[in-house]
Amino acid sequence: MEEEMTKKANIFANLYQLSFEVKEKVIKELIDNDIDVSETFHPDADFNIVIGGDGTFIKAVHDSEFSSIPFIGINTGHLGFYNDVKYYEVEEAIKKLKENDFILNHLKVIDCEIITDDKTYTYNSINEIVLKAKYTSIMNFDLYVDHVKLQTFAGDGILFSTPSGSTAYNLSAGGALLCQNLNAFQITPLAAIRSSLHRSLDKSLVVPKETLIRLVPKSRGDVPFSIGVDGIHKEHDNIREINIKLSDKIINKIVFNPDWFWINIKEKFI
Ligand code: NAD
Repeated sequence: MEEEMTKKANIFANLYQLSFEVKEKVIKELIDNDIDVSETFHPDADFNIVIGGDGTFIKAVHDSEFSSIPFIGINTGHLGFYNDVKYYEVEEAIKKLKENDFILNHLKVIDCEIITDDKTYTYNSINEIVLKAKYTSIMNFDLYVDHVKLQTFAGDGILFSTPSGSTAYNLSAGGALLCQNLNAFQITPLAAIRSSLHRSLDKSLVVPKETLIRLVPKSRGDVPFSIGVDGIHKEHDNIREINIKLSDKIINKIVFNPDWFWINIKEKFI
């Protein structure tokens, strides 16, 4: 008979007292279920267990460099969109991990390429990439969808969100809520100017995976803008163009109920 390999779990947790207590409980349950524990990222692990809030989940995804090891989030924070396992349900959740009694949901990821005069920078995001004018200035850029120059945009900025990120910043900016399973991403303007001078589209667009978005700033250098990658601030000078598309990477999220997305929406947004 073939011997079953011992499973291993990486643990990510924030530093709050409740997370510390839940982490102790998680470690005990993992050991009791013969699952090895690693408190540093191990590339051969079977699970990434995140204890904290959505910020901890997002950080774990970035710190693990968008690891393909399945993630499970245990909520000790407030909203818990990604971290949807309640901290008092740990025992049951770990039993299900041991028995492989779960399904994987594939969360989409955005690829962002920033081409400056000197260098090209690449970023991935699980929620959104936001480009915003700094200070109180207006951001002007040409927006290309595939090979078509769709518009010259003027306004506060623009946001590109994944379906799982559609409930975050995108929702506050007036974007639509996208169903998780769509292989698509959303482009949402921030305070688009519509006048006889500026004809910026003030509605969000939902585009399929294959779509390539190119953004060319109208004035380079003198009206700087900031870039947010899942809430992490980036700054680059002399940007020539920015390319956005849906990535071939995905984040595997462990779910126990195929309807988790709608349950989450009902519990947390309605
Ligand atoms: P944070 O601590 O400032 O939390 C922001 C809030 O967003 C938290 O309540 C978190 O639970 C929630 N959140 C994060 N991802 C979510 C998702 N996919 N669906 C629903 N809610 C979600 O910062 P953080 O925890 O590091 O999160 C960074 C995120 O904050 C960014 O990716 C951005 O989406 C969001 N944000 C929102 C606004 C806004 O709504 N005006 C502004 C800035 C940042």
